[in-house]
Amino acid sequence: MTTERSVDQVPDAHEVFDDLRGMLWNRRIIVLLDFDGTLSPIVDDPADAEPADGVRPALERLVEKCPVAVISGRDLADVRDRVAVERLWYAGSHGFDIAGPDGEHHEYEDALDVVPSLDAAEAAIRERLDEIAGVKVERKRFSLSVHFRSVDPDDVAMVTDTVDDVGSEHRDLRITEGRRLRELGPDLEWDKGAALGWLLERIEPSGSAFPIYAGDDVTDEDALKAVRDIGLGIVVRSDERSDVPTFAHVSVDGPDRLCELLGQLLELFESGELSPA
Ligand SMILES: [Mg+2]
Repeated sequence: MTTERSVDQVPDAHEVFDDLRGMLWNRRIIVLLDFDGTLSPIVDDPADAEPADGVRPALERLVEKCPVAVISGRDLADVRDRVAVERLWYAGSHGFDIAGPDGEHHEYEDALDVVPSLDAAEAAIRERLDEIAGVKVERKRFSLSVHFRSVDPDDVAMVTDTVDDVGSEHRDLRITEGRRLRELGPDLEWDKGAALGWLLERIEPSGSAFPIYAGDDVTDEDALKAVRDIGLGIVVRSDERSDVPTFAHVSVDGPDRLCELLGQLLELFESGELSPA
């Protein structure tokens, strides 16, 4: 129903909320959410990221009404500890590592095979970027993120070239870009869209679920594409990503506005307009 357009051309969810109500009516909703930049404001040090005010209570109430999943590039334990709401599904490492509310655990085995390449790439990148001020090399179980948000603009090309260079030395690694970061991860046919499909199948095997996905970054587009014809895609807007293409149906202006939208969704459940799963 939607062709790809740029983020700044996507209508604001709050302005078209009546249309969304019609779209959601009588559906079996599953809510799937990215973390950084979606539930939490982007901060200089990713180690300091926390859910925006109101997110935790909103998720605690929402999960009483429908299945809720958080899909993040962070490690599973990291994203679970940061969100800290029980009964959610958590998908870490872009979905290579998934845990369910009843103790289910799914790990994508092939991702384990690339850990030695990630170890080697991490050592090489740390050594080569040692002298550059402000670089943050963040090692995660199945990926390596190199953040350059605090790097002098004159040095950014050096950082990205180094990551591209090291990444290209390992055939089993794939280079991806994000908001002020470059990332190396397994070069496998698996992304947030595949993780979303896996989760939907597991949560609602009948295939009748109506997924709502919200995310803010390049890797979220795989999931937004996956829900394009079967659900509702929400892109969380930022100044950093405004004229880039997106598969989302609607947008919101940052994590606080997304939290408000989750509150409106709850009201639809609480008023009986949506029936709980
Ligand atoms: Mg994000």
